[in-house]
Amino acid sequence: MLRLSGKAVYKGVVLGKVVVVKKNEQPVKRIKITDIDAQISRLEKAGEEAQKQLRKLYNKAVKEVGETSAAIFEVHQMMLEDEDYMDAIHSMIRTEMVNAEYAVAVTGDNFSEMFASMDDDYMRARAADVKDISNRLVQNLMGQGEVDLSAMEPSIIVAEDLSPSETVQMDKEKILAFVTVHGSTNSHTAILARMMNIPALIGVPMDLDEIHTGMNAVVDGFCGEVIFEPSEEICVQAEEKMRDEEEKLLLLQTLRGKENVTLDGHKINIYANIGSVGDIGYVLENDAGGIGLFRSEFLYLGREDFPAEEEQFAAYKQVVQTMAGKKVIIRTLDIGADKQVDYFNLGKEDNPAMGYRAIRICLKQPDIFRTQLRALLRASVFGNLSIMYPMITSVEEVRKIYAVVEDVKAELDRAQVPYRMPEQGIMIETPAAVMISDELAELVDFFSIGTNDLTQYTLAVDRQNERLDDFYNPHHKAILKMIRMVVDHAHKAGKWVGICGELGADLELTEEFVRMGVDELSVAPSMVLKLRKAVREISFSD
Ligand code: PEP
Ligand code: MG
Repeated sequence: MLRLSGKAVYKGVVLGKVVVVKKNEQPVKRIKITDIDAQISRLEKAGEEAQKQLRKLYNKAVKEVGETSAAIFEVHQMMLEDEDYMDAIHSMIRTEMVNAEYAVAVTGDNFSEMFASMDDDYMRARAADVKDISNRLVQNLMGQGEVDLSAMEPSIIVAEDLSPSETVQMDKEKILAFVTVHGSTNSHTAILARMMNIPALIGVPMDLDEIHTGMNAVVDGFCGEVIFEPSEEICVQAEEKMRDEEEKLLLLQTLRGKENVTLDGHKINIYANIGSVGDIGYVLENDAGGIGLFRSEFLYLGREDFPAEEEQFAAYKQVVQTMAGKKVIIRTLDIGADKQVDYFNLGKEDNPAMGYRAIRICLKQPDIFRTQLRALLRASVFGNLSIMYPMITSVEEVRKIYAVVEDVKAELDRAQVPYRMPEQGIMIETPAAVMISDELAELVDFFSIGTNDLTQYTLAVDRQNERLDDFYNPHHKAILKMIRMVVDHAHKAGKWVGICGELGADLELTEEFVRMGVDELSVAPSMVLKLRKAVREISFSD
């Protein structure tokens, strides 16, 4: 039995089998070889393995996202057979007498650079694909083929770290819990775990060589513990806790259909945050009044190329239609920082959280923005859709956004494509936006306060840095004063204001937020009914 502690990002208990997900982080070494044929045969075997993996991925993707999006895996299969690419690897092994993985890695880099420098957009986008297939070959050569999660039973995922793009690719039905060595409580991986309602522990000092796939484990998000190979007694206790939790959740279900109203009649909207169309089920299950934040960038993660307008349109349409007239606030692309996507070719930055991200990308690369806006406007006729823009710091940015929106509207008008102009709001998540919120309020229909980034930028604490978790204090007076200021400015201009950062779900602050006059709290679906319960117990006269 091995008992370890970590930081819980979602409270809950599970008992299940472990799957260890290891990533290839070993550097590829250049090794002088003598047996060329042996290296060529290793390369061929790795290539066959890669073809098999890609075929599987293609079949899975066809079922889940359709043929057009799955086609990328066919492209990869073809690239693996490309003569120029393969000849270059063979030639390097022969002439330089080096190991196959080194020859693949170097050739992959050379080809990828060559594609990246081409004029043609399509060819440029292939740079990431060559990198991808080269990495796949290297992984297979180093005996670290990917873990096939498609065939696994619901399991506890144990890993060194998980990026948001890895997390979104996982089949949520198959994950009982996450346990990672690294990660910060405010990262998007943690947010995803909360959204998925699954216990998650981060910062667990595990030696992954000691933990094996197939082990039993208990993950207890209440006391922040994971117990590998638990005793019979601990399993029984865990099962009891799971039953208790189940009962509490059932009790909360009695609040479905009830109003979010204090004992003295103050009402507040409680909406849910989602990251994918698949999350709507949780929204409905938990009786949220709407969707206060659809992080649309998750549609862009964990894939090989930009989602086309049609694909985005279908996703937005499905969300607004399923919500049947309830408010759905879709945030435009907030990529960058910890949400990295290879095909954006964002490049390495020293300070990605303060870098080229979110609305900055949209304003600098308007084609990407226009595609999303077209999809959003077209989806607007199917329900109650609002658009929200992230990372705003100035009035000029909002004006520039509106100019792009006007352009897109004119384009749709010319093509006689129907749309209904949605409400447009902005995230208040930079101190600059707080300080000019009086001016911004005149320009927009609503505000939603992003306390995750607002805390990061106000306290100068990188939300990704696990060593700073103790310094990341969203209860800081400065943050609460800022929220109050934003609420006052919004109301003065007759606009409504919500909170969609994680702080909105903090039950210690619910009463304070209601007293401040916050109009909406948008939280992980699993928190909606807990928040409703808290609101219904508040009495202003106390
Ligand atoms: C926030 O910053 O509070 C927010 C809601 O956005 P995200 O967590 O996606 O950055
Ligand atoms: Mg943010």
